[in-house]
Amino acid sequence: HVSVVLFTSDLRLHDHPPLRAALEAADAVVPLFVHDRAVEAAGFATPNRTAFLADCLTDLDASLRERGGRLVVRSGDLVREVCRVVTEADADEVHMAAAHSAFAGRREERLRRALEADGRRLFVHDAVTVAVPPGEVTPSSSDHFAVFTPYYRQWSQARWRAAVAAPRRVPVPDEVEGEPPRARGDISGVSPALPAGGESEGRKRVTAYWRKGLDAYDDTRDDLAADATSRLSAHLHFGTLSPVELVQRARRHGGPGAEALVRQLAWRDFHRQVLAARHDAARTDYRTKHDHWRTERTARADIEAWRQGRTGYPVIDAAMRQLRQEGWMHNRARLLTASFLTKTLYVDWRVGAAHFLQWLVDGDIANNQLNWQWVAGTGTDTRPGRVLNPVIQAKRHDPDGTYVRRWVPELVGVDAPAVHEPWKLPGLDRAALDYPDPIVDLSEGLDRFRRARDRQE
Ligand code: FAD
Repeated sequence: HVSVVLFTSDLRLHDHPPLRAALEAADAVVPLFVHDRAVEAAGFATPNRTAFLADCLTDLDASLRERGGRLVVRSGDLVREVCRVVTEADADEVHMAAAHSAFAGRREERLRRALEADGRRLFVHDAVTVAVPPGEVTPSSSDHFAVFTPYYRQWSQARWRAAVAAPRRVPVPDEVEGEPPRARGDISGVSPALPAGGESEGRKRVTAYWRKGLDAYDDTRDDLAADATSRLSAHLHFGTLSPVELVQRARRHGGPGAEALVRQLAWRDFHRQVLAARHDAARTDYRTKHDHWRTERTARADIEAWRQGRTGYPVIDAAMRQLRQEGWMHNRARLLTASFLTKTLYVDWRVGAAHFLQWLVDGDIANNQLNWQWVAGTGTDTRPGRVLNPVIQAKRHDPDGTYVRRWVPELVGVDAPAVHEPWKLPGLDRAALDYPDPIVDLSEGLDRFRRARDRQE
């Protein structure tokens, strides 16, 4: 008896219900990962995420080998490759985690049909890539929550499955062959300071953060220079960490820091249940329509300055440069740069979302598109008219300018508060800086946004 475990966004051995079920059902399992051509063709396999993925697969393979097994890696059409492996191993069943995008839903359906046509079965497991699956908690009048606070209330009281221990042994049949896992070093165009991936790395990060960081999370999470958030997002995106296990560990730890982190993990599930119910929200305005956005064609120079981190607003530029250097950006900085692009420059949120997806190692359709919509005022924000002022915000969240100077070397010799408004420096000091003037006047930007919004209504 053999079963196949198809790994997708769940690249771990700890708390992995599909692997547990596959091991219980059979004498041997084939742990399988497929580089899906369709994901690559859609442009989703960017250098940063491909590099992080390479680390994840190398680590997963090593952990399986410690348990007497190995990872089988294939490339091609996912459905075809899974069916091939099933035939080669003469497996009866395939186990995998549920996913929630339109693409994943279609792929899962194709796989189910192909397997069933051949007399085999597909088992899809919930609560592997999310803590509380979409649809598990709903308001009385709809299939999903459109507002976070009531969602969070019910999410906190949902029925939770117990975390599953990592298996001690994973016997894998000899006859199924795969390709060697790709090495990170073979991938070009990767951000120079991209963090390392893999379950071992993720678990180390959790242990370190729980010891030093978690208790202060509530107080320090908005401090740009402190960089005191968990940095677990890429691990959650690739599933090297289990959200169920993380929430349970945080609750056991207790205190306001852990509670605040759990609330952020609930945001992750919140966006997934929106996307699961409204697949179109990845592309079209979720609630409030805006038809007058400036676009690549009408705001080209502004968009390019934003992408390059040369808007003349230091905190925006620091954040955009951090994104390219690390493949990651602080949450407060994501809020500021997204608000600046959509509300101050009045550029279509999809332009910004695409740029983020290009660079973010945690780039994730649900979290990225729906956070962009939240900031743009087209999504689930209950205050869609709010505009974040980058100067006021910079003074509040980077009071001594450390974050700006870390990423914008042109401003290294400038102290706070001038570092946040270099255009206010005396003429000669200003002239000595090789740093651009602001590309937009904040109050003019605000007027344009309000006029456009009123026209829309
Ligand atoms: P922490 O503050 O330590 O939070 C812990 C975890 O909670 C995160 O790892 C993440 O999984 C989850 N989380 C935190 N904040 C949010 C949030 N607002 N929405 C959903 N989940 C959250 N997050 C992504 O994972 N992928 C994206 O592509 C992404 N795009 C974003 C785009 C914009 C415009 C904005 C405003 C936010 C985006 N976020 C995205 C959410 C958030 O900024 C990141 O999850 C967070 O900065 C990651 O750093 P961290 O792990 O240190 O977070």
